[in-house]
Amino acid sequence: MDDALLAAARAARGFMPDDEGAALHRAGLEGAAVGPLLEVGSYCGKSAVYLGAAARKAGTVLVSVDHHRGSEENQSGWEHHDPEVVDPRTGRMDTLPFFRRTVEDAGLEGSVVAVVGESVTVAALWGAPLGLLFVDGGHADDVAMADYEAWARHVAPGGRLAIHDVFEDPADGGQAPFRVWQRAVADGFVPAATTGSLRVLRRPAS
Ligand code: SAH
Ligand code: MG
Repeated sequence: MDDALLAAARAARGFMPDDEGAALHRAGLEGAAVGPLLEVGSYCGKSAVYLGAAARKAGTVLVSVDHHRGSEENQSGWEHHDPEVVDPRTGRMDTLPFFRRTVEDAGLEGSVVAVVGESVTVAALWGAPLGLLFVDGGHADDVAMADYEAWARHVAPGGRLAIHDVFEDPADGGQAPFRVWQRAVADGFVPAATTGSLRVLRRPAS
């Protein structure tokens, strides 16, 4: 990634250390050779810059899906709450303006398509085979598994599945993403790389 894109990614609010972002970008490049990229969980656009940069390099796009109302763990009183992303008019979270600004500042509007909606609702309408699916939406057990079940089927042969916040040890974090990773392995995805809490798997070419 060039310096301007890296700076934009690092400046964005969000939940992704630099090394995991670089690994996500690499997975994005691999996936983009197969098809378009899709992430569940846009938040303020940090991961969208890492993946959007990969999509642009390969001449494809990233579709970034989020209702922009925050996960349970982003709400007021929870660990990952940022009061600055609350809409003062309603008192509800709204990360869409932040996402839009991040993508604009990164110069990636031509390569990142925002879809504002409930993940499973959007997935039910989806048809295009994906070169990479990045699962980073809600981390409650039922929500994370529902995202996997709704979207994983769309990963093309040879495509990548990336899962964020995978902690094998409950002392390090919630277990839902780890259970999704275990399920993906059971379903035939092949582990390809681990960087921090980011795990990348590959769907065999057939
Ligand atoms: N990838 C982001 C972080 C995502 S945080 C980064 O790089 O910083 C998780 C996001 O998932 C939140 O923005 C939340 O609104 C979204 N989310 C949670 N459950 C969702 C659902 N069921 N449908 C759509 N978006 C959801
Ligand atoms: Mg995450």
